[in-house]
Parts: sequence; structure tokens; C-alpha cells
Amino acid sequence: VRLARAVMDHSPHVLLAGAGAEEFAREQGIELVDPDWFATEERWRQLQELKAKKLGWFDDGLKYGTVGAVACDSHGHVAAATSTGGLTGKRWNRIGDSPVIGAGTYADDRAGAVSCTGSGEQFIRAGVAHEICARMRLAGESAQGAADAVLAEVGTMRGVGGVIVVTPAGETVFAFTTPGMFRGRADHAGLYETGIFGMAGSKD
Ligand code: ASP
Repeated sequence: VRLARAVMDHSPHVLLAGAGAEEFAREQGIELVDPDWFATEERWRQLQELKAKKLGWFDDGLKYGTVGAVACDSHGHVAAATSTGGLTGKRWNRIGDSPVIGAGTYADDRAGAVSCTGSGEQFIRAGVAHEICARMRLAGESAQGAADAVLAEVGTMRGVGGVIVVTPAGETVFAFTTPGMFRGRADHAGLYETGIFGMAGSKD
């Protein structure tokens, strides 16, 4: 996310990838780590399980590992950030929805900021984050209504996942079609809440 921020602040571009992104990171003095740094026992186990069961390329059990944040400042400016390791079993150099602006991440002061997790290919096809903002901005839908409707659309493509949304008025919304989504929210009035299962507003 620090590197994405540097692309926004210190280049004329929106998206850099591969060797060019690494070179830019070095120029910006951003810490680079060896690919081994990202290795975890659990992901390795999942990959072996995926291969053994010949389940195809897709992440077994859809245990996503993406982290997203949306924020709104006191002037109603919104921002979104999403960081991911992608999906277990993906092809080398596969790009998912997370870095694709409008798919897994989007922020527009006229509607809201959105960060997504889920089956990236379907999120890209549905342009999820932008679609939620477009529904709010152009069709006057509520953040919850738009988020639910777009996730339902993703569902028609057999995609599942979740979104977090904040509006310029500071309203925070969650929606997900997976059994759970680790989440939390806080506001200036003292709201401080975390959840795993159930939906926003429930006590689960
Ligand atoms: N959306 C991510 C991807 O497809 C995966 C995730 O949310 O964990 O790369």
C-alpha cells in the first residue's frame, strides 16, 4: 500500500507492475523483501492440498487473505487501499482484482470508497468497486443496497466475496457472501466494532 501511495503521489501513473514497479519502489526508498518472506506454512499446506486433490487453480475453501481499508476524513474525502497475496494456486504473474482500480479498490468523493475481497476474476468482470459507487452516485442507491446488489451480481457468475464501504458522510457498510469476513470499524463518535460471522449490525 505504501508503494501504491508512492505511485499516486510521486508518478503520473495509476498502476505499475512487475520489474518496473520494483525499480520504482527502489527509487522511492521503499523496503523490498525476498519472495521467501511471504511464505507461510498454512499457504504451503493449502497449495499441496490443492495439488493433491486436483481441485484446479482455485483457492481450496476460498480462504482469502486480502486486507483492505477504507477511510473518510473530516472533510468528506474518502480513500481505499487493498493489499493481497492473491489466491493459492494462481498462475505466475496473474493479476487479481485488488490492485485494479474500479474492480477491487476504488474511491470517489462523490460516492464512497470501496475495498473488496473474494474471487478476483469475477470481481474484475463486474467492476465491483466502481459499480457500487456508480449505483450510489447515479441511481441514488444506499451504500448497503448497492453493495448487496453488486455482490448478488457477482454471485450470478459463481463468484463470492465481500466488500467494505465508507461514504463521504462517514457511513460504514459491510457486505459479504462468504460465511464470514474479518472486519472492524471505528468512528469519531466512539463506534468501535469488530466481527467475523453474521452481518453488520448483528451481534455475531
Ligand atoms: N481478491 C483476491 C484475488 O482474487 C483474493 C482475496 O480477496 O483474498 O486476488
